Amino acid sequence: MIVGGCLCGGVRYQYDGEIEEISLCHCSMCRKAQGSAYVAVSPIEAGRFRILRGQALLKAYRAVPEKARVFCSECGSPIYSANDRLPGVIRLRLGTVETPFTCANAYHAFVDSKAEWDLIADGLPQYAERRPLNQETK
Ligand SMILES: [Zn+2]
Ligand SMILES: [Zn+2]
Repeated sequence: MIVGGCLCGGVRYQYDGEIEEISLCHCSMCRKAQGSAYVAVSPIEAGRFRILRGQALLKAYRAVPEKARVFCSECGSPIYSANDRLPGVIRLRLGTVETPFTCANAYHAFVDSKAEWDLIADGLPQYAERRPLNQETK
């Protein structure tokens, strides 16, 4: 079980599952949404995720029509995104997770559009855009 929340503490959530994949996305939209070099996200089952408190604080922004980026309207912490074309899956922002976990299944995505100053210095797989479908574990 995983618990976490936003910076101000107004939003708290629980996920009744494990983090099985870490995508480090360097695309320009994720960079702006996080205010950072990349976002660390994990696809998780929406049905096993629940907001414990602060539902009314959550606001969604759609930079593209099919994808809602959900964040705390009080402190701005990004919590998850949800793609209308992939019902049942949300992508949790791992910086908001408080439960310690490890996950070896991690990779860099959209490396071709990363910031010039963003130096990737680990040995994880790097993909120009999305990880190819045949590499997906689920
Ligand atoms: Zn907050
Ligand atoms: Zn991205």
